[in-house]
Amino acid sequence: MNAASSSPAKETLGFQTEVKQLLHLMIHSLYGNKEVFLRELISNASDAVDKLRFEALSNADLLEGDSELKIQIEFDKDAKTITLRDNGIGMNRDEIIKNLGTIARSGTAEFLAAMSSEQKKDSNLIGQFGMGFYSAFIVAEKVEVRSRRAGLSPQEAVLWTSAGEGDFSVENIERAQRGTEITLFLRDEDVGFANGFRLRGIISRYSDHLSLPIEMRKEHSELDHDDEEEAEKAKQQPLEYETVNTAKALWLRSRSEIKDEEYDEFYKHISHDYQEPLTHSHNRVEGKLEYTSLLFVPGHAPFDLYNREAPKGLKLYVQRVFIMDDAEQFLPLYLRFIKGVVDSNDLPLNVSREILQNSPAIESMKGALTKRVLDMLEKLAGNEKEKYQKFWNEFGQVLKEGAGEDYANREKICKLFRFSTTHTNNVEQDQSFDDYISRMKEGENKIYYSTSENFSAASKSPHLEVFKKRGIEVILWHDRIDEWMMGNLFEYQGKSFVDIAKGDLDLGKLSEEEQKELEEAKKENEDLVGRIKTALAEKVEDVRVSARLVESPACLVLGVRDMGFQMRQMLKQAGQAVPEVKPIFEFNPDHQLIHFLDKETDEDRFKEFCFMLFDQAMLAEGGAIDDPAGYVSRINKILMDVIA
Ligand code: ADP
Ligand code: MG
Repeated sequence: MNAASSSPAKETLGFQTEVKQLLHLMIHSLYGNKEVFLRELISNASDAVDKLRFEALSNADLLEGDSELKIQIEFDKDAKTITLRDNGIGMNRDEIIKNLGTIARSGTAEFLAAMSSEQKKDSNLIGQFGMGFYSAFIVAEKVEVRSRRAGLSPQEAVLWTSAGEGDFSVENIERAQRGTEITLFLRDEDVGFANGFRLRGIISRYSDHLSLPIEMRKEHSELDHDDEEEAEKAKQQPLEYETVNTAKALWLRSRSEIKDEEYDEFYKHISHDYQEPLTHSHNRVEGKLEYTSLLFVPGHAPFDLYNREAPKGLKLYVQRVFIMDDAEQFLPLYLRFIKGVVDSNDLPLNVSREILQNSPAIESMKGALTKRVLDMLEKLAGNEKEKYQKFWNEFGQVLKEGAGEDYANREKICKLFRFSTTHTNNVEQDQSFDDYISRMKEGENKIYYSTSENFSAASKSPHLEVFKKRGIEVILWHDRIDEWMMGNLFEYQGKSFVDIAKGDLDLGKLSEEEQKELEEAKKENEDLVGRIKTALAEKVEDVRVSARLVESPACLVLGVRDMGFQMRQMLKQAGQAVPEVKPIFEFNPDHQLIHFLDKETDEDRFKEFCFMLFDQAMLAEGGAIDDPAGYVSRINKILMDVIA
């Protein structure tokens, strides 16, 4: 912001760049759904009233004897204005400059980026996006905001004015009334909004869920209006207001009388999201603890989902009084994407974050709310597969954190997991453990999986070969968190998890014939095993004939308790000390390269060849090799021999 005038009385300031972009978009590209401006301004007034109510809990003077908190909306057809007035917290001069000159809200930059491509300009996304205060300029060519912060004197009120172009001005004014009054000077083409019937319609569509009463003047009949004398007389009469919304907090109404659209609008109000939620769960709990909760699953992830500092949590009310945003104590971290409200009858009104942290009552509510969310997700998965898939794609990785965080609910969380498997062989994660189990062969009681850096590595791992041959399904985990996650999981529905790249392979019973073949292969290759052991002594724990391989010459196997290759790499990159473990080198005695190796009599060349096979097996795991340059020169040497 650059001050064009230094006078403390009146100054003109430039909008932040993002605000200018937003205003430009709104004024020039918004075709449909102009009426959202009213929802935004009412939503702000409601927030301002909530804030006042909360601050007044510890400082009743702020109410100044005016404790009937409400919003009033007026219009004047002739002057082409709409005015919204609230007696909420108000803003002082610094606040008004900051709040109405910059954008602090998350997601705006992303939205602007998404909207800046030409072809998207007229999509109705703009109309859906909550543009906050600035949406006033959708219909107004000039906006005046008069505000006095609660607790300040009438002389410390401030007037903010802007035509929604590059700048705005602020000056001090006198204002007896606490709170904020916004006057919209409508553009000629939008004068139609200065109409009682229309305004009431918009209010009931977007703002009926607010507990705050919204008042409008009682309207006189058209006849009165046409007759100048009568109209003049009407103006002299004391103003009569009536409440035009339901004015009862949505979560306190009974589920059966709330329409889905009302839930959606409420969600948008509390989340500042512009898209509909995927689903919601609305419950009243009575008994030892009494509270009402209304929880939503958003349709898309916020960009800061993985930022530990990002605000998360529910909106907390105590006996219908707003207490705080982002109360984190009611849900575990792995459900941080859930939005909603909890209204408690038992907590004290002066409850603080510290109190929340150490309260057994909160712990027990947290347990119950966690179950609610998991049930809501399970229901979504059962009833609306497409929506659930959307949920999984957006939030699945966060839910996976629950495997390590929430032992009590592990089974429930696992039921919600989705992944790729060799059955579908598709990068889309859309199979569940229940799907897997339903396809299990009789007598089978293990769930086989592999973890890899990405799907293509996962689906091509040499470890899969024998499973393919035997028609056994393998789960292909390919998110970064998966190896860590599986380290926390041991079984689902009594079936234990088996990492196909670790330990001795137990594929149920090998047939007698297969057993005999394997024993024979072991005997036949005793010498070769010994030679490879010597060659790779510094690199491997052991060498053995493999029962896993069909097409590949070799693979690396870890001990059941060993940390996997990717996790090792990840920790190393993060600068952590990782205990060295040596893998077991398994080879495929039927493979031509192994036959070739067996015939090599020059021990130096034999060793080089073993190193190459080892590195290749490591690469196939998605692991990193210790000496890439050495690997390349070995391969080249072999190629040169072929050419020569
Ligand atoms: P958001 O509501 O998402 O914070 P807005 O653009 O709608 O974004 O509003 C910006 C800020 O301006 C609000 O956070 C609030 O601090 C302030 N504000 C807007 N309207 C009012 C109002 N009626 N009373 C007090 N403060 C307001
Ligand atoms: Mg707002």
